[in-house]
Amino acid sequence: MTAIIVHGGADDFWPEWREAAWKCCERAATAGQELLCHGGSALDAVERAVRELEDATVFNAGTGAYPNADGEVEMDAIIVDGSTGRFGAVAGVQHVRHPIGVARAVLERTDHSMLVGAGATRFASEQGFDFVATDDLVGEVKSGSQHGTVGAVALDSQGVVAAATSTGGAHNKLPGRVGDSPLIGCGAMADSRVGGASATGDGEALMRVMMARAVFERIRDGMSAMDAAQAAVHLLKKETGGTGGVICVDSLGRLGHAHNTPHLAYASIDAGGVLSSGL
Ligand code: ASP
Repeated sequence: MTAIIVHGGADDFWPEWREAAWKCCERAATAGQELLCHGGSALDAVERAVRELEDATVFNAGTGAYPNADGEVEMDAIIVDGSTGRFGAVAGVQHVRHPIGVARAVLERTDHSMLVGAGATRFASEQGFDFVATDDLVGEVKSGSQHGTVGAVALDSQGVVAAATSTGGAHNKLPGRVGDSPLIGCGAMADSRVGGASATGDGEALMRVMMARAVFERIRDGMSAMDAAQAAVHLLKKETGGTGGVICVDSLGRLGHAHNTPHLAYASIDAGGVLSSGL
């Protein structure tokens, strides 16, 4: 049994971007699912799906990422292995098309969990990631709330859950600003015994409620994945007044998603192989 769900941000996409957002999510979920049904790992599936989303200019991650106040692109990403609880993350990484790949390299090729700023960018270069100019990454504004973070959560045939999140962060942010996305328990969380989650929205608010962990705890305490996602979004609003969304998968492959923004671009393929998507 396998399952995957992906998102392209809790946002209010302008009409001309909506179809692209939705279709890209379908493509990403399908790409991840193809790996899963050939025995691929949940880690490979979420990385594959997020790379697809990072390549899509409609989203604020990888190519299409929003610039900071200096016009630079500083990106954040995390990938979590639910079989061990270990994760790799980068914050403020520059000049790479796939921050999620750099996060995976931190997980698998270092003794650390998170690299930031110049150190993260240097690590990416040393690990052989292609470098591109800021102009090749920077995206135009596609929505009013300017979110558009991407993420994926998957369950593989071995029962392992993995989660991944990647973002350009807040549009026009102060240089050096980091939001929830690369922080464990905030932007993503996975434990194969329970499930996993990836969050999006107002980073400063999501950090306060530790959004991915909020979903995770509710699944652990017996809620369905869908109810847990909704309850966490409710908590976000109640505690902070913030907006956002979340996707999740439980250890049996049941899927959840919720948002309090006009849209959450998402696509999923459930344990029965059924593709669902929406905005
Ligand atoms: N949560 C992200 C951040 O604050 C933004 C987003 O989800 O769109 O960096």
